[in-house]
Amino acid sequence: MLGWLIIGGGIHGAHIAARLIGEAGVLPGRLRILDPGVRLLERWNACSAATGMRHLRSPAVHHLDLDPASLDRFAGTPLRRAPGLFAHPYARPSLAFFNEHCDHVIATYGLAALHVHGRAERIELNRDRVLVRTNEGRTLSAARIVLAMGSSDQPAWPAWAGRGEDPCIRHVFALGFRLAEGMRRKQVIVVGGGISAVQVALWLAVGEGRVHIVCRHAPREHQFDTDPGWLGPKLMRGFQRDRDPERRRALIGEARHRGSMPADVMDALRRAISAGKIQWHRSEVCALRPGSEPLRVRLSSGIRLSADRILLATGFETKRPGGLLVDRLIEDAALPCAACGYPLVDEHLRWHPRVFTTGPLAELELGPAARNIAGARRAADRIVASRPSWV
Ligand SMILES: Cc1cc2nc3c(=O)[nH]c(=O)nc-3n(C[C@H](O)[C@H](O)[C@H](O)COP(=O)(O)OP(=O)(O)OC[C@H]3O[C@@H](n4cnc5c(N)ncnc54)[C@H](O)[C@@H]3O)c2cc1C
Repeated sequence: MLGWLIIGGGIHGAHIAARLIGEAGVLPGRLRILDPGVRLLERWNACSAATGMRHLRSPAVHHLDLDPASLDRFAGTPLRRAPGLFAHPYARPSLAFFNEHCDHVIATYGLAALHVHGRAERIELNRDRVLVRTNEGRTLSAARIVLAMGSSDQPAWPAWAGRGEDPCIRHVFALGFRLAEGMRRKQVIVVGGGISAVQVALWLAVGEGRVHIVCRHAPREHQFDTDPGWLGPKLMRGFQRDRDPERRRALIGEARHRGSMPADVMDALRRAISAGKIQWHRSEVCALRPGSEPLRVRLSSGIRLSADRILLATGFETKRPGGLLVDRLIEDAALPCAACGYPLVDEHLRWHPRVFTTGPLAELELGPAARNIAGARRAADRIVASRPSWV
């Protein structure tokens, strides 16, 4: 029997594995990470590449290693480091460098060898163990599990767009999506107005094509997607004091700067708009002529657009992640949920003595930054601090 099984090998699963091994002394042989990807971090790599982003939005202290200074150290001494590894302000790492550091952390803690390929399909909580059945017919047995499934498996599709039936309408976070050079020669409508939509549009606008962005609101500028105060006692103290999950849900909703972008992305957007490369339509798609080529779209503003491609950068569904797997677990083990459907967990993110959570599943305890890299670090703090008899 394993000591720990982490379900989900993304940013959260990988960081928690590193912390359990490197900080809590869990023996690698007693820990596994279950994930359907060929490699760990596959969804992170795919989603980040799909936006054309060059730098992370978060600062250099947010990464997968134990020591907050690890990424900065990995860059070498300031006088000798290669240019472009970090963007101002807040020393935000380039995506390529951040990913290199992820590989370094995975190698340091030998995480690739702990990766079990597969998707958890059923979780059974027994008196002394948890049994996890996978889509590949395996049953894994562990003393405790961490639910680290994230929400990147559930891109949000607007109702008018179908769900991928029309090959000319793609979601940038759908499985298999890639930005292809040929798209730069096409007329493209990008739907969505947050950082990912704008990064996709800026990537496309390098070519000859003209890019339309269709978004309900005007461009919004925020350096981070939540105020950094949510990472410490300044804002978290009040959140933790309020035990009412509905008020916590409301605080989370208010605190997230959804559909926003940092100043450098906003500046690049303004330049592209002035140069006529990007047109921002503050509107909604209200009709799409099915099967037409090029695609013909009518906006709520009355404007009609035609395009070769529609790319949706509309983020992820806000519903509880984990689908049927988590629905059944809740039912079988009578696990507590708030009215919004999300888990009610203790201060160590335990939903059950054998079930820990992280990411969105832990956000009613961890607060508005739970889904981010910093949220993975906070989750690991709480799980490691629970100090059960582990190894
Ligand atoms: C384009 C983009 C840029 C971002 N930039 C930043 C940034 O700069 N800074 C920041 O802090 N945050 C950023 N984020 C937010 C966040 O950090 C990432 O989304 C991060 O990948 C979330 O990690 P995760 O482990 O929760 O989810 P994921 O990376 O999606 O990993 C979850 C894994 O669980 C797997 N899984 C799901 N169901 C099962 C199952 N039943 N069995 C087994 N495995 C399963 C999935 O296949 C996936 O591999 C960004 C997000 C996106 C999309």
